[in-house]
Amino acid sequence: MSTSKKTQEEAKDMIEISEDKPANFIQHIINEDLEANINGGRVHTRFPPEPNGYLHIGHAKSICLNFGLAKTYGGLCNLRFDDTNPSKEDVEYVESIKRDVRWLGYDWDDRLYYASDYFEKMYEFAVQLIKDGKAYVCDLSPGEIREYRGTLTEPGKESPYRNRSVEENLDLFQRMRDGEFEDGSRVLRAKIDMASPNLNMRDPVLYRIQRGTHHRTGDKWCIYPMYDFAHPISDALEGITHSICTLEFEDHRPLYNWVVENVKIDGDSKPKQIEFARLNLSHTVMSKRKLRQLVEEGYVDGWDDPRMPTISGLRRRGYTPEAIRDFCDRIGVAKSNSMVDIAFLEHCVREDLNKRALRVMAVLNPLKVIIDNYPEDQVEELDAENNPEQPEMGSRKVPFSREIYIERDDFREDPPKKFFRLAPGREVRLKHAYVIKCERVVKDEETGEVIELHCTYDPETKSGSPTASKRKVKGTLHWVSAPHALKAEVRLYDHLFTKENPEEEGEDFKDNLNPDSLEVLTECLVEPSLQDAKPGSRYQFLRKGYFTVDPDTSPEGLVFNRIVSLKDTWAKIQKAQKK
Ligand code: ATP
Ligand code: MG
Repeated sequence: MSTSKKTQEEAKDMIEISEDKPANFIQHIINEDLEANINGGRVHTRFPPEPNGYLHIGHAKSICLNFGLAKTYGGLCNLRFDDTNPSKEDVEYVESIKRDVRWLGYDWDDRLYYASDYFEKMYEFAVQLIKDGKAYVCDLSPGEIREYRGTLTEPGKESPYRNRSVEENLDLFQRMRDGEFEDGSRVLRAKIDMASPNLNMRDPVLYRIQRGTHHRTGDKWCIYPMYDFAHPISDALEGITHSICTLEFEDHRPLYNWVVENVKIDGDSKPKQIEFARLNLSHTVMSKRKLRQLVEEGYVDGWDDPRMPTISGLRRRGYTPEAIRDFCDRIGVAKSNSMVDIAFLEHCVREDLNKRALRVMAVLNPLKVIIDNYPEDQVEELDAENNPEQPEMGSRKVPFSREIYIERDDFREDPPKKFFRLAPGREVRLKHAYVIKCERVVKDEETGEVIELHCTYDPETKSGSPTASKRKVKGTLHWVSAPHALKAEVRLYDHLFTKENPEEEGEDFKDNLNPDSLEVLTECLVEPSLQDAKPGSRYQFLRKGYFTVDPDTSPEGLVFNRIVSLKDTWAKIQKAQKK
């Protein structure tokens, strides 16, 4: 059996093993290619970001897809920076992109490439096209080029420069490179067909003159290749077999193929462009241009603001790479655009954290409770399970004493119906501790605000003791011991935009920013086991949601971000739909 044949069969086996859901349309294409032994049974993909901003959750979908397919088929995936526009690109972005891809759990090994590494080769390919009579230098202005291009209903007009001789074209193109002409004064165009029904085939621009210092090639070049020329060449040079991109490039595919066919690249690899629907997520924006605007105009606190849909924002927010990968897997790949509810992303995060996060107690809006019949100097170390879903995660000790804090909204002086928390004369259970009864309310004489509660406890009701269930109470509250609790700042986040689609036409997306997307609570109290909590570690604050330690945390003060609340709106929507 030949090696390629073997790889092919192994690949098919792998598919069968790893498949627990039907193959998507891209896998079908790849399966057919493997069947036909196209590209010798190889599967080689790439993730090609332009380093002009930070990656967002939409890119995560592309990363999971490209690296995921390579893994599924026992193939390879390259990381390639598509750095053909010096004016918007920067090494800061290159570094952030590498970090984000790694954080998501993918590895390009030694296959890190830059389109700019191929500039010399691309230039040579362009010269070759000129020699073959398939490209020419055009002096029309950008406006004229647009005008000559025609419309969907009218054919284009040929440029008066279209029939320049090969010699003249070679000379002018060399002089473009040498910097003899001004920015925008001339371009190199492919000579294809001005009457093509596909506008992209009407003598598309391949090179433009654009001065600007490139983050890698410095001032070496003043002409830069266009995406439609650079991308297929980069793919072919790297031996990419399946070049996966988003739907807007569907109409560019004939041009992609034209370049692959007409540029003479060594090797037998013929990359194939496949388009899929980009991810759109509700209540946020995803274009890097818009995200950059939010950062530069100070609407958010940087690219890694936990409200941003960027990978760095989601990481700081406390999302796990596992949850993001699971989300990307579950939304699948489609051929038509749609919008995914952000509640589904939150649902995936919750599912993942439910399995792994330590349960702890934290009081976000504290109200003091004094347990009058509890001995004044007594402190008990109570057993508290770390995660009821994972008993092997063990337990910890939580101190209990005479003065504790509970959540202010867990007490109502005048409780409405079905309020099963604390109220005058009522009983509740304190999680991991005792049943207490509210005996007396102390209020500020002037404002009427409740300052503290006086309660009594029943020593027979200690959690875990044989008599614990002696008394039936409906509510269980979380709490912290007043002398032991640590002060903390807690940042609560809501959607960045109030509207499901903030980018509706005719609107400035910034008008739809949610003014309440960030709420900072500075008087929170957390249990003492969080003393040495490290940035990035994640917890469930009982009844309050999942939280992570923010990098802003310091020995002087703990800072937590809420990752998600416990209320699963997605599960609710699903349930309602099933009814
Ligand atoms: P943006 O509009 O956010 O700037 P882009 O497509 O210009 O996105 P690139 O850096 O060129 O950004 O994208 C790198 C890769 O990620 C491309 O293959 C692109 O198709 C893919 N990609 C970008 N946005 C999304 C998205 N929302 N969903 C899926 N894939 C995406
Ligand atoms: Mg782009």
